[in-house]
Amino acid sequence: MLNLYNTLTRKTEPFEPIKKGWFNKTVGLYTCGPTVYNYAHIGNLRTYVFEDILKRVLKYNKYKVKHVMNITDVGHLTSDADEGEDKLEKGAKRENKTVWEIADFYTKKFQENVQDLNILPPDIWCKATDHIPEQIKLVQTLTDKGYTYETSDGIYFDTTKVSDYGKLANLQNQELKAGARIEMGEKKNPHDFALWKFSPTNEKRQMEWDAFGRKGFPGWHIECSAMSMKYLGEQFDIHCGGIDHVSIHHTNEIAQSEAVTGKKPWVKYWLHGEFLNMGNDKMAKSGNNFVTLDTLKEKGISPLAYRYLLLQTHYRKQLSFSWEALQAAENGLKRLYDETARLKDLKIKRLKDLKISERFEAAVDDDLNTPQALALVWEGINNNIIDYKTLLKFDQILGLNLNNATEQQNNRTTIIPDEVQRLLDERAEARKNKNWAESDRLRDEIAKLGFNVEDTSEGQKITRHRS
Ligand code: AMP
Ligand code: ZN
Repeated sequence: MLNLYNTLTRKTEPFEPIKKGWFNKTVGLYTCGPTVYNYAHIGNLRTYVFEDILKRVLKYNKYKVKHVMNITDVGHLTSDADEGEDKLEKGAKRENKTVWEIADFYTKKFQENVQDLNILPPDIWCKATDHIPEQIKLVQTLTDKGYTYETSDGIYFDTTKVSDYGKLANLQNQELKAGARIEMGEKKNPHDFALWKFSPTNEKRQMEWDAFGRKGFPGWHIECSAMSMKYLGEQFDIHCGGIDHVSIHHTNEIAQSEAVTGKKPWVKYWLHGEFLNMGNDKMAKSGNNFVTLDTLKEKGISPLAYRYLLLQTHYRKQLSFSWEALQAAENGLKRLYDETARLKDLKIKRLKDLKISERFEAAVDDDLNTPQALALVWEGINNNIIDYKTLLKFDQILGLNLNNATEQQNNRTTIIPDEVQRLLDERAEARKNKNWAESDRLRDEIAKLGFNVEDTSEGQKITRHRS
């Protein structure tokens, strides 16, 4: 039974899709995608890897997953208080390109990152700028139902019209966190947010559309409501993002979506991934502590080593990035490839049934406990209770490309497992004592673990079996 921590109820709950029945096990999954004005940093990518694990675990549990990811290519402002510049327009100025070129370039870069990290691509990629009519329609419906008001710079959602506003983040009575600063402008209430912004009169925007009697552009939150409902229906199973989306972006998505449809809950399960930090600060595109996957590749570190690093920490725990930890993850992954290649070539199976598969499945079904799952992989390898086929089955979730282990491992020095080393030492001792029968027996034992021993003038030489 799959259990997931739901931010909405603040509990770990058994997962039960909205559409029940053996004949229809389709799960609707919406994951907030990147704002494409710059490279994704490895913090952003942590969130996408967590979502990928979720999707893989759902599939492993025999659900069909309909996964939708948006591309935010308009409307995400530099300030969460509906002030500031559109990040895309800002990126275009920085690089002296059109907004469309910027969006196109960073979308492709993001999709390369997705591929490099072995993240299963969504079934539907959708761009905000391709769904403007859907967004206008939602704003119009909200206006018709009396949820909006207009200011000089846009159409705003009146959060006091919704009695359970802020339920996801547990915001109460329009209270603000102590010390939080909010630009009120002409807003009536601190949490009210822009559904649609009017283009500034003193500046020509590159992206703008005719609606509500003048030129304007959508707010960031309405994009996700419009696109998720278009592809997944008025109510769907799972919505994810990074933890920073809880208090504003997802809170506002819920308010406006439930106001449009009148159906609750809009989404049954909300899952959020914790931050990747750099020192004590979260990694942020606006900060100068920002590392990309390309930087890792330039340093000769494989993207999958970063994936392996991420699997070692539960998605709901903060993770502090360090180059040392990444290097250790790279070494760990190489060892895993070595062991996988050895198990692949191993002719004789010596499996004891210690329920390794059941324990692995219980770990991932327990709110995606990947650190535990990885520990079980190593327990299986170290105790010789796992075979190649089982490892490949586990890799449907881990996504470390273990089926390419032999290629990954070629051209690297052989790492000798402890057990093999112990047998080699015993064999050296037997040969010293001219106990040839024992020496041959130990050679056979070593062969069973996937290694050949040759006796050379410099002593025993060990190589892997090649099939
Ligand atoms: P953005 O492209 O800024 O809209 O962010 C893309 C995704 O990355 C969102 O789901 C964010 O919540 C998430 N995110 C942003 N910063 C971090 C971080 N330091 N660690 C993990 N996830 C993050
Ligand atoms: Zn979103």
